[in-house]
Amino acid sequence: MSGTEARRAELADNLERVRERIGAACARAGRDPSEITLIAVTKFFPATDVDLLVGLGVTAIGENRDQEASAKVAELARRRDVELHFIGRLQTNKAASVVSYADVVQSVDRPKLVAALDRAAAARGVRPGVLVQVSLDGQPPSGPADRGGVDPRAAAALAEQVAGCDHLQLRGVMAVAPLGADPAPAFARLRAVANGIREAHEGATWISAGMSGDLEAAVAQGATHLRVGSAILGSRQSHR
Ligand SMILES: *Cc1c(COP(=O)(O)O)cnc(C)c1O
Repeated sequence: MSGTEARRAELADNLERVRERIGAACARAGRDPSEITLIAVTKFFPATDVDLLVGLGVTAIGENRDQEASAKVAELARRRDVELHFIGRLQTNKAASVVSYADVVQSVDRPKLVAALDRAAAARGVRPGVLVQVSLDGQPPSGPADRGGVDPRAAAALAEQVAGCDHLQLRGVMAVAPLGADPAPAFARLRAVANGIREAHEGATWISAGMSGDLEAAVAQGATHLRVGSAILGSRQSHR
């Protein structure tokens, strides 16, 4: 077996296991797996893995750093058959770059960033999807440990701002479960925030929650999008 064939077999195995987990979680929750979009988080992994994953039926990938994502997209020659979701902390000065390749920006958590993305999208003539990232940490830490996200009480106002932007499409909410705590109550809080936003904006139906370690809890709490990295691609440690 060539290296590429071996890698394809490994990715196929991992994907099958993840899809089985999603299927089982859906069965327990009385949900249809077709309601759920699996986003393969390909950060730290090469464009060749993206090609293999698309060949295995993956329709969306996630990236969390602008520099890495734009280089990878250039290598992929902007494949039309895979959606790119930007899921990382985003500085306003990277907005123009991110809208040049991202179909969806999931990590939108402050008014200045909304304004910067809208201006950049207008200049580029695009209309990316946007998710409001909600902090589920209780007391959001600041500094390097801060994983971003707006306070849940401020999420509706931020969604309102996104919905008012001509060049952005409000799709819903995104969150990362708090470190070292039960994800279920956190995802339940996210679902309540999502429901509130959807009452005002009927197109805002997406809930992006759940990663390799907690996708079952996310499915149980209504997630529509799962962002799964290591369970599909393997440990990122060996690729740093
Ligand atoms: C890396 C990352 C993921 C994927 O994490 P895994 O635990 O590897 O599945 C999901 N969401 C965000 C925001 C990430 O940065």
